[in-house]
Amino acid sequence: MNGIRHHISDDLLMGYAAGALPPAFDLVVATHVSLSDDARARLAGYEELGGVVLSELDEAKIAEDSLERTLARINGRTERKPVERPAPGIFPEPLKKIVGGDADAVKWRGLGMGAKQCVLQSEDGASARLLYIPAGQAMPEHGHRGMELTLVLKGAYRDETDRFARGDIEFADEDMDHMPVAEAGEDCICLVATDSRLRFKGWLPRIAQPFFGI
Ligand code: ZN
Repeated sequence: MNGIRHHISDDLLMGYAAGALPPAFDLVVATHVSLSDDARARLAGYEELGGVVLSELDEAKIAEDSLERTLARINGRTERKPVERPAPGIFPEPLKKIVGGDADAVKWRGLGMGAKQCVLQSEDGASARLLYIPAGQAMPEHGHRGMELTLVLKGAYRDETDRFARGDIEFADEDMDHMPVAEAGEDCICLVATDSRLRFKGWLPRIAQPFFGI
């Protein structure tokens, strides 16, 4: 997809290629990769690089192996992790699989003021959720105790750093406080992974935190 202005970091892509991320972050990265030609190309590079490293580790073994068996191993590895292509609808394939359909299949829970969320998974200390923010509405201002990775699927939002639209990814950590505001004109749907609870600024969001669970 063209028009993506905020790309995923090399660290996260390498972590994904190495299978080192918690499942919640894997989901956000896989969904972003299926929307971004740039990320897909870079990921292919890291997977190839990973293959070379593995080959070097296996050098002694490979010397004993026939060429066919080595090639079969390489092919087997790439087949196990196919690169997803974009599909019609709002949700790319990796997300559709988890949700069991597109945006109309999500079992939303209200957060108040028209905002909604749906927790998709919570494992290894990290969780992934869909957030629905009505057009023009602000999310509570917050800081982060760990990592937060946000991917825009529909609409757009702005925060202190920039504007984020479909396919854009934003990484936030302890050093960053922000207040995302959905742009007027279109409701915003994001996929968000976090590995710790957020630090809300005002008293109202702190009361809301048990509901958000973020
Ligand atoms: Zn945040």
